[in-house]
Amino acid sequence: MALAILLAEEGIKGTIIDSAEEIYPGPRAISLDHDALRILQAVGVEGSFDQTSINKVIFKSPLFGEIARVNTSGKVDGHPKLVTFFQPQLERALEKKLKEFNNFELFRGVTFHSFDEKKGIAFLGDKLDVKCRFLVGADGANSLVRKSQGLDFKKRKVYQEEWLIVDAKDFEAKNGDQIEFNCDPRSPYPRIPAPGKRFRWEFKLNKGFSIPPGLQIERKAIYRFQASLAPRFSKGQCFLVGDAAHLTPPFAGQGLVSGLRDAFNLSWKLAFVLKKNGHKKILESYDQERRPHAKSMINLAIWAGRVVMPSNFLMAFFIQGTVAGLGRLPFFKKYLLDFKIRPKNNFKRGLFIKGGGLFPQEVKDRRTFRLFGTGEDPTGLLSEKNRIRWEENGGEILKLEGTFDSHQAIVVRPDQVIMHYGPIQKADKILSEVLNLI
Ligand SMILES: Cc1cc2nc3c(=O)[nH]c(=O)nc-3n(C[C@H](O)[C@H](O)[C@H](O)COP(=O)(O)OP(=O)(O)OC[C@H]3O[C@@H](n4cnc5c(N)ncnc54)[C@H](O)[C@@H]3O)c2cc1C
Repeated sequence: MALAILLAEEGIKGTIIDSAEEIYPGPRAISLDHDALRILQAVGVEGSFDQTSINKVIFKSPLFGEIARVNTSGKVDGHPKLVTFFQPQLERALEKKLKEFNNFELFRGVTFHSFDEKKGIAFLGDKLDVKCRFLVGADGANSLVRKSQGLDFKKRKVYQEEWLIVDAKDFEAKNGDQIEFNCDPRSPYPRIPAPGKRFRWEFKLNKGFSIPPGLQIERKAIYRFQASLAPRFSKGQCFLVGDAAHLTPPFAGQGLVSGLRDAFNLSWKLAFVLKKNGHKKILESYDQERRPHAKSMINLAIWAGRVVMPSNFLMAFFIQGTVAGLGRLPFFKKYLLDFKIRPKNNFKRGLFIKGGGLFPQEVKDRRTFRLFGTGEDPTGLLSEKNRIRWEENGGEILKLEGTFDSHQAIVVRPDQVIMHYGPIQKADKILSEVLNLI
């Protein structure tokens, strides 16, 4: 839905089909980080769904007491580091936003069957078919698009344990700004406050388990968590985003967040190829950039899962003892406790020359190519030819106000990734290299 909105805003025409008649009402994602909030602002739904800021995440061990306290207070790029939310409300906000555009249609109750790549036709249920230049599989964990492209998960790690997710309502929570993981191997559970006096528990199911009495349960579901990654996120004209491309256990709260990163990365590239005759090759960078990062988030979640649900007390002793011990070392303490343990959204390979990390947010992110001069307007340093080529590609040229040690030229992509930078005297060369790349 987020991808469709970003494309619709660029004037791209498209069709969404969803086999479900309704937005999924069950309990799934509950937390979002600042990356996700930055993307949702670009999508235009910021402020359209309720959020609760989370200031700390605490891990408690039955053997060592509090073993870690991650500080999630404060903001990055103007967005809270961590919030909780109500997924159906966010999905409704996205669907409402999408309806503002008439170049994208949404059909519910229609199922994808197969894709004829040569003719560019996606075959849907009830003899309906759609001719398209690109097909994006955002069809979740059991993606048929993924299977139809021979990109199915090779190794699908399915956890043995079953977890019961319980969302209660009208719950007067103590410590309503903190998430707590009770990492007891006998019955681990996180407790998570959420907007609208909601509260969530995720219980690993054991024999004889019963829900604490007196809760007003709003919704519940049982899941077996999984960790898997598609061998590629794209093939020819097909792309995979979200759970269709990667599945993660929820211990790092990164499943939906990774899906939003996919959408943001892919949307401008598709729009650029469709509208501005950008070279098709740039689409290859989607897999190059997104797959390694999604993988590192899955690894983080698997690691967090070992801390949260060690299989027995001996494992708890080793794993939780190590975390408790390391947490006393200043370097590790800073790394773990200041939320730095989360792999940075920095690419090693992809569509950039020098950079690959995120540019800090301006007052509100613009979704164009931008050439910035720090403390100096670089326009006068550019050849007429490059300036015109830049502007033809929708590029902007801007002076970044402030005090800087040196004057730099920095090129930023529509998804806020730094593409190239260097001394401002080389602005024309930097721009030439970027133009050749795209
Ligand atoms: C207990 C739990 C807690 C979680 N907590 C978090 C969290 O805190 N933070 C976080 O970021 N993530 C979390 N996640 C993960 C998050 O919920 C998912 O990553 C996210 O919802 C996936 O979104 P998606 O759009 O990729 O897939 P889905 O939401 O599964 O959407 C797929 C859509 O495709 C449709 N579809 C499927 N097959 C077809 C077909 N053949 N034809 C047409 N349509 C089809 C479906 O009807 C569905 O609407 C959690 C997940 C669980 C289970």
